Amino acid sequence: MQIEKIIFSSQALHMFQSEIETYGVVETGGVMLGYIFEETIYVEKVSNGGSKAIHEYLYFRADNNYIEMFIDMEVANSGGKLRYLGEWHTHPQINPEPSELDLDSLGEIADSTVDFCIGLILGAVDYSTECFWKQSVCIIKNKDSNKFQVIQITRD
Ligand SMILES: [Zn+2]
Repeated sequence: MQIEKIIFSSQALHMFQSEIETYGVVETGGVMLGYIFEETIYVEKVSNGGSKAIHEYLYFRADNNYIEMFIDMEVANSGGKLRYLGEWHTHPQINPEPSELDLDSLGEIADSTVDFCIGLILGAVDYSTECFWKQSVCIIKNKDSNKFQVIQITRD
């Protein structure tokens, strides 16, 4: 899968903002749904972690039952236009860097998909939507490649 750029909907940006307002530098996250068109990923719908998610200073785990329900419902509501793209979470950093664990988990998810998975990490320190483009990193892992690649996040 050759991806040149990624664009986030306003729903996605609002979700990131409100989750970081709620949790501050305690980690939070969720899943991202969207579609691909002409080598661009469009992230349309983003979830939070659900009510049973685990939020800690350096650890986050989403509520799997909630996530499965969110994906099923949103994919069905979109008439199949949306698909699962990957996961997002925050770090207590300004310029977030993926941990070894983040890359391992992205690799595992990519292996379980048909093509690829993306991981988005946002720096929650002094975060605002205006800073999203500077304070986040998005990584793609293709199922059939050993490499992780950074995708440029486009302001749109
Ligand atoms: Zn992380």
